[in-house]
Amino acid sequence: MKTPLQKLLRPHILAIQPYQSARHEFTDQGDAITFMDANENPFDNGVNRYPDPFQTELKAVLASQKGLSPEQIFLSNGSDESIVLLIQLFCQPGEEAILIAQPTFGMYEVAAQIQDVAVKKVPLTTDFQLDVAGLLASADAHTKLLFIPSPNNPTGNAFPEEELKTLLRGFSGLVVLDEAYWEFSDRPSAIAWLDEFPNLVVLQTFSKAQGRAGIRLGMAFAQPELIDYLNRVKLPYNINILTQQSALRALEETNRTTQQLEWLADEKQKLTNALNRCSFVNKCFPSDANFLLIRVDDAPKRYRQFLEAGIVLRNTSKYLHCDQTLRITVGTPDENNALMALLNTLDR
Ligand code: PMP
Repeated sequence: MKTPLQKLLRPHILAIQPYQSARHEFTDQGDAITFMDANENPFDNGVNRYPDPFQTELKAVLASQKGLSPEQIFLSNGSDESIVLLIQLFCQPGEEAILIAQPTFGMYEVAAQIQDVAVKKVPLTTDFQLDVAGLLASADAHTKLLFIPSPNNPTGNAFPEEELKTLLRGFSGLVVLDEAYWEFSDRPSAIAWLDEFPNLVVLQTFSKAQGRAGIRLGMAFAQPELIDYLNRVKLPYNINILTQQSALRALEETNRTTQQLEWLADEKQKLTNALNRCSFVNKCFPSDANFLLIRVDDAPKRYRQFLEAGIVLRNTSKYLHCDQTLRITVGTPDENNALMALLNTLDR
């Protein structure tokens, strides 16, 4: 008898025997042990040994901070890797599809295209809200994954909890709630819903609030059966030693992160006020994230003017409903002051 999750998986995945690395077969128990099993260079330089393939120490700390068990946690090379692997596990190339609500984070579509998986797109409303009925109506038995970032990128808004739960109840595949920006919002994480919804996957990342985009570390939280399948298809040593060490340091520095989140919230408010005063900014959209989407009079011209002054913004005008928009990441106080000074100069 197949479990509900096994019915959703691509059939050949069920039969795969994962690669057994040396460190799978024998992990360091902390005793004085001589490793002569993995053909490494034995001279110690801090990174001469393969990393722990299941990141046991890091997952133990994360599990206690998140109120989960380590079996509910998968770690990936950025959230990007989890996105790729979820599509690989569930979507048959040439036959099955993912579902997205546009405008959205671009990587879902690219990851699907690379794997020859179709992408169904349902527009957000023009004020960037979910069309819940439209999303559910467009899904069929071949639509395996629904990706929703909340807060959304590039629009910055978080979606109402009840709407996300309606999607979780009504969608027959897995709902991947991408919480890359959740620490910046005042909403609780959907991790708390994992017991209620076995078809929920929550993605978080060290790249945004945790301040470690450079180490490439993403987290996927889901029921243990799904985490087990992710572990079966990942590359054996997908998280290197330096990344695991840096993440452990980040998790010791929660006070610093909290402090930075407070500063960034204040800075975002300052920027919002300045942008709202600026005559060429037609709208500054409400943001639950660490960036602001603005609609301007002439996006290419304003983009160029900022660039000439040494400030790189994202021209988001090509996204659906985002005509003439720019996306601004909240910077340090000095960076934001420079941007606001430039706004004043250009506004004259
Ligand atoms: N999800 C969303 C919604 C994002 O905006 C981004 C990055 N811009 C990511 C995921 C990627 O995160 P990571 O750096 O962990 O791959």
